[in-house]
Amino acid sequence: MISVKNLKKSFGKNTVLNGVDLHVDRGDVLAIIGPSGSGKSTLLRCLNLLEVPEEGTIHIGETNVDVAKMGRKEVHNLRQETAMVFQNYNLFKNKTALQNVTEALIVAKKMSKQEAEKIGKELLIKVGLEDKFHQYPSTLSGGQQQRVGIARALAVNPNAILFDEPTSALDPEWVSEVLQVIKDIAKQNTTMIIVTHEMKFAEEVANRVIFMADGNIVEENDPKELFHHPQNPRTKQFLKTLE
Ligand code: ADP
Ligand code: MG
Repeated sequence: MISVKNLKKSFGKNTVLNGVDLHVDRGDVLAIIGPSGSGKSTLLRCLNLLEVPEEGTIHIGETNVDVAKMGRKEVHNLRQETAMVFQNYNLFKNKTALQNVTEALIVAKKMSKQEAEKIGKELLIKVGLEDKFHQYPSTLSGGQQQRVGIARALAVNPNAILFDEPTSALDPEWVSEVLQVIKDIAKQNTTMIIVTHEMKFAEEVANRVIFMADGNIVEENDPKELFHHPQNPRTKQFLKTLE
């Protein structure tokens, strides 16, 4: 489903991704953990070309790109393969919950308004917002806004959903409802990559976990092994700081 080879990204002299290789199968839930500044967000953002890497190949779904040689069509195609859920929700503030979810369906997928609203309502019901269709983001709690963000990502029926610390901007009281929605989606065989600092959640939801440090994948394993029997000294040290 996703295969990334030798991905390199720098900001000026700061090398942020050091030749990352990544492989995700259909239906996998991959959690990425690691210290702040290790390149986790940059890796996700490179997968949909919100950041443009200098080197490497990215294969997602039907699209194959060599980032050093790609044209506009390949950029467009690769972006269609995934949907992103952001830390700060990134909702359209002047659109209702339903309009946020249907926007891409109407504009990019050229669906009729009626058809898009049918799908949008189903998805908002799925994330527990059946009574919020016509509310604006400013009238919703952080947890509700993030659930709109998740419904919006599901709407385009992407090959994979990329979550970048989906609960880290939330007040503690809203975290569990958002994690529960993500868990429910994971059970439906949705391919997902989740950058998270919620270790318990990562262990429960993921079937693989990657530990990143300094722009490298330091260790990759199934959650039980990685969390309870880390092999690399850096992984051990990182997990210890969280105790
Ligand atoms: P993480 O998500 O693991 O905390 P990031 O991918 O956000 O790490 O950042 C990795 C490094 O890249 C950091 O040193 C950060 O300062 C730098 N960085 C990220 N985005 C940018 C940017 N747009 N411009 C310059 N430096 C950036
Ligand atoms: Mg980050």
